[in-house]
Amino acid sequence: MVKRILVTGGAGFLGSHLCERLLREGHDVLCVDNFYTGRKQNVLHLLPNGRFEMMRHDVTFPLYIEVDEIYNLACPASPIHYQHDPVQTTKTSVHGAINMLGLAKRVKAKILQASTSEVYGDPEIHPQTESYWGHVNPIGIRSCYDEGKRCAETLFFDYHRQHKLRIKVVRIFNTYGPRMLPNDGRVVSNFIVQALQNKPITIYGQGNQTRSFCYVDDLIEAMVKMMDTPDSFTGPVNCGNPQEFSILELARKIVELTGSSSLLNFMPLPQDDPTQRKPDISLAQNVLKWSPTVALDEGLKKTISYFEQMLRNGELALS
Ligand code: NAD
Ligand code: UDP
Repeated sequence: MVKRILVTGGAGFLGSHLCERLLREGHDVLCVDNFYTGRKQNVLHLLPNGRFEMMRHDVTFPLYIEVDEIYNLACPASPIHYQHDPVQTTKTSVHGAINMLGLAKRVKAKILQASTSEVYGDPEIHPQTESYWGHVNPIGIRSCYDEGKRCAETLFFDYHRQHKLRIKVVRIFNTYGPRMLPNDGRVVSNFIVQALQNKPITIYGQGNQTRSFCYVDDLIEAMVKMMDTPDSFTGPVNCGNPQEFSILELARKIVELTGSSSLLNFMPLPQDDPTQRKPDISLAQNVLKWSPTVALDEGLKKTISYFEQMLRNGELALS
């Protein structure tokens, strides 16, 4: 059955891959984005497709359309961008959720929230399971994002309990791949861009903090599978790759894969930077019948090719 699907934040990194995937399945896709961190170039190739529509809109304002399903991804995801205008970040998560939930209620659409591993904060439980309530600083520089996303989850579950909305909540762990912004400060894009230009690799702290990196195609597969689960399953469900690496290991891997002559440059660790992060994905494995399939080396090679192409096109500043 062809569905009409809204993707908020559809011109961003994950959103553009999701739009592509849903179009491939033959659905009508409406991409809504205010281009805060998204780019028209990410979806330019989709515009000739008659089933694709692009609308410039800020989700902190109401939206009146008719759709069957909503994927709510609108929100800057990298620390640099979400900390640039923290009040707007909270508004995007909270007012954006209220507006999209209101829309879902009016048109009886099923709605999925792109939540985050940041709801666990700097976790004391390792690996993180969905039953863990988290360890989040409510007044720090990451709080606009973490607490905004936590409040969005609350709203999703209250709309579900109070208005019987069909909701799905996925907690996404660090995901990487082509179309990350070269300058958005996330670790994979930063290190690759630095390595390709033989510039120092900026390691925050000693690089002992860990993250678990999921390739974008794997993540999109999990999101689509989650939307298709029975209505009784709401999540939250962790989606990510449980293979854990220290930031130092990641840096060395990227230097090796790019054949770079970059040196490592140790810099101060930002406030509230989580020391460890790794998803327990048992729930996703059991319910979604999903596990990531792309190993870090393989995913990094694809991502490096993307940034090499940008470099050749003069889209990365060589200074
Ligand atoms: P991104 O910054 O590339 O995409 C976010 C998109 O939302 C951008 O296109 C941006 O322009 C748009 N946007 C921001 N504010 C908006 C607003 N007020 N109205 C309309 N559009 C708005 O980031 P991403 O990595 O693609 O992340 C997508 C979603 O997934 C985000 O909600 C993020 O919190 C979540 N997430 C991502 C990761 C990850 O590792 N990539 C991890 C956890 C959660
Ligand atoms: N990081 C780093 N150098 C960079 C960018 C990030 O060492 O140039 C570290 C950062 O301090 C964090 C980890 O890499 O410990 C992941 O950072 P990112 O911003 O990608 O994601 P998040 O902290 O939100 O997981």
